[in-house]
Amino acid sequence: MTINRRNFLISGAAAAVTAGSFARSGLAQEKNRTRLILLGTKGGPRVGEAGRSNPSTLLLINDVPYLVDCGYGASKQLLTLGVALNRLRYIFITHHHSDHNLEVGPLVYNAWITGLPIKIDVFGPVGLQRMERAFFAYEKFDIDTRIVDEGREDPRKLVTIHEFSQPGLVMRNDAVKITSRRVRHPPITQSYAYRFDAKDRSVVISGDTAYAPELAQFARGADVLVHEVMYLPGVEALLKRLPNAKRLREHLMAAHTLPEDVGRIAAQAGVKTLVLSHFVPGDDATITDEQWAEGVRKHFDGRIIVGRDLLEI
Ligand SMILES: [Zn+2]
Ligand SMILES: [Zn+2]
Repeated sequence: MTINRRNFLISGAAAAVTAGSFARSGLAQEKNRTRLILLGTKGGPRVGEAGRSNPSTLLLINDVPYLVDCGYGASKQLLTLGVALNRLRYIFITHHHSDHNLEVGPLVYNAWITGLPIKIDVFGPVGLQRMERAFFAYEKFDIDTRIVDEGREDPRKLVTIHEFSQPGLVMRNDAVKITSRRVRHPPITQSYAYRFDAKDRSVVISGDTAYAPELAQFARGADVLVHEVMYLPGVEALLKRLPNAKRLREHLMAAHTLPEDVGRIAAQAGVKTLVLSHFVPGDDATITDEQWAEGVRKHFDGRIIVGRDLLEI
């Protein structure tokens, strides 16, 4: 069988730019469907130098934002997309590595300071409550000053934290059912994937994970699987420059998924579309989209999308 690569691979900076402008102009028009937009696609805590922002993924379901992870830059990426921060309603954290949660507090703050009353529900593994309290303590002087001086509401009353330590139903409303499944991200045990079942579309977001067949089961039949990916030659090149290379290599190998295994998971799950995101390394511009995808394609013959910031799927 001859496979026309273009049918399986949507890639390139042009696609991302087009998607970004489309997303901006399309926001008002497409209120009644589920839209998926990658805000940040660079794995790891370092702030990227080569165009990828830290992890964050947005679903707009009936025009209501559901944000999965808040790496550094999430506020800015939402604004670039044209989503006003005071529209923020639901945030989901996959695990407590900082590339996934660094901006939770600042994002809630930014939503509050944007000006209109907000109600934000934040869901995630244990530790979230402590983190939110610590953030409000960190900005206590500013917040207390603005409440008195500018007549603002108390943001601490507008945010509800929902912690969990077991997988299962996370939340459900008329538009969507959201469930979680634990994944493999040692040494962290509280690391989760999320599944969004909306009326028109089902989307699974892997979070950070090593090869995990139970994730394939969780994603069974979904329309879209957004999966993290690690490219070994790129990692080896990166490690050459680091003093803690041996230790870091061990962590990366135990905690993330190589392209071939991402392909296996997508094939086992039987998803229609696989989106690669959370790239490790995420700021090596010499790695081509084809290099990211070729290992995946050995095992998965569905549609493969090599993610870019602000790309809509
Ligand atoms: Zn990560
Ligand atoms: Zn992680």
